[in-house]
Amino acid sequence: MKIFNLKIAMIVLALSLSTVQAKDIALPEIGDSAGALISPQQEYQIGLGFYLRLQQSIDLIDDPEINSYIQSLGNRLVTHSDSPQLPFLFFMVPNPSVNAFAAPGGFIGMHSGLILTSKSEDEVASVLAHEIAHVTQRHLLRSFEKSKQRSIPMTVAMIAAALLGAADPNAGAAALMAVQAGGVQSQLDFTRSNEAEADNLGMQNLVRSGFDAMAMPTFFERLQQSSRFYDTGAVPEFLRTHPVTTSRIAEARGRAVTYPLKRQVSDSLQFYLIREKLRVLAASDANKLVRYYESAIKTGGSLNETATQYGYSLALVEAGQFTKARQVIQALIDNDVDRLSYRLALAKIEIAVGRLSTGLAIYEQAQKIYPDDQALTLNQVDALLLANLPKQAADLLLTQLELGQYSRRLYKLLAQAKGEMGEKSESHSWLAEYYYHSGRLNLAAEQLRIAAELARGDEFQLAKISARLREVETTIDKVEKL
Ligand SMILES: [Zn+2]
Repeated sequence: MKIFNLKIAMIVLALSLSTVQAKDIALPEIGDSAGALISPQQEYQIGLGFYLRLQQSIDLIDDPEINSYIQSLGNRLVTHSDSPQLPFLFFMVPNPSVNAFAAPGGFIGMHSGLILTSKSEDEVASVLAHEIAHVTQRHLLRSFEKSKQRSIPMTVAMIAAALLGAADPNAGAAALMAVQAGGVQSQLDFTRSNEAEADNLGMQNLVRSGFDAMAMPTFFERLQQSSRFYDTGAVPEFLRTHPVTTSRIAEARGRAVTYPLKRQVSDSLQFYLIREKLRVLAASDANKLVRYYESAIKTGGSLNETATQYGYSLALVEAGQFTKARQVIQALIDNDVDRLSYRLALAKIEIAVGRLSTGLAIYEQAQKIYPDDQALTLNQVDALLLANLPKQAADLLLTQLELGQYSRRLYKLLAQAKGEMGEKSESHSWLAEYYYHSGRLNLAAEQLRIAAELARGDEFQLAKISARLREVETTIDKVEKL
């Protein structure tokens, strides 16, 4: 494991170094325009490098419904930020601790524990808005530019290492060893003024996006209170990288009261549903989970009773109690016919009990209301493949790509569909994309070589594969030469 992590560290270091041409240019002092020497393209590469490395040590949450939710919540805030044109990527880490982090270029990760700890969508939005502000203000780049003597490559390597440390302490520790020779800042270190600026801009953004300004101090306060019960070693990661002091909470509260009271406009039911889905995903004992929901329903007083019923239905599915699960979800549908989450849950139950065509009919019906929704499409594709209808599955997936919506899971399903259609070369080249977007570059290259071998005689396909293989090899080269 240690060797594996160290290897990640070296790759991080190498990838980072390769993104910068100038080797020994002194960096500007603080106060100069931050990152003047690090271009937006390089910034994006730091973030992408971090994101790909992160996936080598952590299995990110792969549930299309959860991913769609967090991405659209993030997008809503980005639209109202200082950099609405930046293509931010929001993703979730399955981890019970409270944490969020942002890499340059707009890669923002959040632990599932943060959503389970929060009590409203506005609270989660306040954390995302804060992280978005760190990115748009390039705080990370500034904080690592304090030393005039430090070279850009070292700065970039340190940022990547510290980010990994915030996201995954094991990987981060090894990554830091690799850069520590330079006498190095060892963690993400936002200054007090960075934090104040991120709070301030974040709150403005929050309000512009239709959320409650007060959610920010409320959430900080809850974190601070809960941290009193932790040992020093178990303080939420988020508080370590973003220290929350009493005066900071007071400042945020003072600022929040200057905004007009928020009218309830957001559809936060979806937030509560996703929150329960995360709870079910995180649980290891399905029967215990069923008992948890039964007790929550009996005692009442949960944050959202509809969401509790939804979670109960999902838990029943996990416990194999399909008949009861169907009753619970059907009751929810009767009150809210068009809600996609319910339809997806019902279709899964039908398929689990062997009624595949009923499940497929539910998806087809839902496509009329939510055409080309990614979560819907990926679930539908799973079922189409089960039903041995790979061509229909592939068509739906290719439409997603045309719409610019891709995900690792989509590439993997496309590889499977093409394989079942007998298009072997296509299948391997889509599998290559799956590996590439999972940060496994060598496996991606291997699949492309197999795809090229299988494409012999098809000049067009061969040219396409060769071009992509050259791109992947160039990236691998950058990573491994240094
Ligand atoms: Zn912060």
